[in-house]
Formats: sequence, structure tokens, C-alpha cells
Amino acid sequence: MLKKLVSCVVMLSTWKLRFFSNDKCNLCGTCLSECQVLNLPRDLARGEIKLLIEGIERSYTLSKCISCFTCDVLCPEGCNPYELILYNKFESIRRRGMPLRVRYMLPHRFPNFRSVVTEDFLPKIGGLFWNGLSVLGG
Ligand code: SF4
Ligand code: SF4
Repeated sequence: MLKKLVSCVVMLSTWKLRFFSNDKCNLCGTCLSECQVLNLPRDLARGEIKLLIEGIERSYTLSKCISCFTCDVLCPEGCNPYELILYNKFESIRRRGMPLRVRYMLPHRFPNFRSVVTEDFLPKIGGLFWNGLSVLGG
């Protein structure tokens, strides 16, 4: 227990918040054109970064980015472009609320995927779901 606590304290003491460095970004587009998910042509990548800096609510990058952080490593200027994407994702959710597909995954929001299965689906099919399954012993 003490060992775990010490390692948590060490981790927190070395952990730093990172932010996008707007002043260092030269809009080269390397981050989004070399991203293996987006793989945008250079001019589109430049345009996307520009839109994100202006604070767009919806963009191709925001809908496709899988939050792998690789663009932070790819940026030759060390600007942390993923933090710019993350900030825009956060702002979009703050203004417009969470997308339905995300709300469906939260156990404290109803309906969610569990409540749909237990309250809607299972009662309709009754015992059919369990037919043929053997009882586990032990
Ligand atoms: S964040 Fe970095 S890689 Fe992306 S456009 Fe700016 S300078 Fe280029
Ligand atoms: S964090 Fe998003 S934009 Fe950056 S490399 Fe990964 S998928 Fe691409």
C-alpha cells in the first residue's frame, strides 16, 4: 500500500500539464498530414490546424482523431497539437453536450446500453436468451 502511495506521489510530482504553443506553430501541417489516421494532404492539414486555432466546433479532425497523441511527437516545433485538438473537443462538448453515442456508454445516464438490454430487450425475448445454456457449477 505504502509503495503504491509513494509511486503515485512520484508520478504526480513529475506530471506536467501540457498546452498547445500557438506562438511556435508555423502552420506547416506536418502533424495532421503525417498522422496515420487523418493522413491529410499538406494544404488541407494546414487549413485544419488554422480552423482549430480559430476554435471550430466541428471539423474533420475532431470527428476522426483517435487521441493517440502521435502528432505531439510529429510536430517539429514541439507545439503539442494534440492539446489543441483536445481543447476543441472539450469546448465542443461544453457548448453542445455529449454526443448520443457517448451518453449511451455512461452508466448514470438513462437510457444507456445496459438499460436498453436489461429493461427493453431481455423482457421481450423472455427465457429464449438462456435456452440451451448449461448452468455453471463450482
Ligand atoms: S502544430 Fe506543429 S506540426 Fe502542426 S502545423 Fe503547427 S508547427 Fe506544424
Ligand atoms: S492524436 Fe489524433 S490527430 Fe494526433 S496523430 Fe493521433 S489521431 Fe492523429
